[in-house]
Amino acid sequence: MDAAIYRMESYASLRETMQQGGTRLRSLLRLQNTLIRPIVVEGFGFWTGEDIRVEFRPAPVDTGLVFVRTDLPDEPRIPALAAHRDSKPRQTSLVCGSARVDMVEHGLAAIRALQIDTCEIRVDRPEMPGLDGSSMPFVLALEEAGITPQPGIRPLRIVTRELRVGDEKTWIEAVPTGEGVHAIDYTLEFDGPNPIGNQNYRFVTNPDRFKRELMNCRTFLTKGEADHLLAQGLCRRVRPTDLLVFDKNGPMDNHLHFENECARHKILDMIGDFGLTPCDWVGRFTARRSGHALNVECVVKLENATLLIDESCLPANSELLLKKERLLKKIA
Ligand SMILES: [Zn+2]
Repeated sequence: MDAAIYRMESYASLRETMQQGGTRLRSLLRLQNTLIRPIVVEGFGFWTGEDIRVEFRPAPVDTGLVFVRTDLPDEPRIPALAAHRDSKPRQTSLVCGSARVDMVEHGLAAIRALQIDTCEIRVDRPEMPGLDGSSMPFVLALEEAGITPQPGIRPLRIVTRELRVGDEKTWIEAVPTGEGVHAIDYTLEFDGPNPIGNQNYRFVTNPDRFKRELMNCRTFLTKGEADHLLAQGLCRRVRPTDLLVFDKNGPMDNHLHFENECARHKILDMIGDFGLTPCDWVGRFTARRSGHALNVECVVKLENATLLIDESCLPANSELLLKKERLLKKIA
């Protein structure tokens, strides 16, 4: 991609350039994907301790990601969009009317990292299963179901100016990149000594890299935090082998997959939270100490610092539109 394109002030002129062709931005657009067949994942909820069954189903083009609470009357639907985020600490929760689903981030990270754009996520409890605290069991299941293109173009949001959210200590900064990538640099940092330790990781989103570098990175907490949750009657079924619990000697009854597994997990969380937008991303993101609330605040505020590239930017004879037409004919 030509970095100079970001110097253009007017979004309209950028769109015009897109339509005239001659920019590599267009090559970043792709067809939407869904699953080939349904797949079920079972486990227990870290928060409630209840057994949970979640079924991922293929969904029609342009319908995005939607949770369905199959245990409630009339099976209410909860779109996986930032507008439906509910503020619950230490996780990403979604709410729509009286229906809610907690801890959606690790499942969403798997879906988004594999570039699955339309999917019905049918869950029979108000929480997604915790599994091993990472995205890996979801990734393996979704790959087993298979992924297939659909006759629709996935929109793309391109960061066109700098944006910073948070405060002096905890922040996320988004800047334009001329490289046509969605890159994340995360720094985990603590005040004073902490058994987890300060650490950093840099990642460029890509399905294969996600599988190699992030998918098995687990959620984490200190023993002090775990004791506090247990005292509140929460997370009683969770054992230190189910995720990473750090005491002064390191992870209890467990071992790290990577030295900086926690910083990597924070990037996994960011990918899941960025999944609450119906588009791909191009931009360079630097985050320090941030968590779910700030991730979602960032994607919401980015609406005013980004350019949306979609099907309307493609010339009629573009290869991608021809592919879409061919798929439409195949389905008809
Ligand atoms: Zn997480």
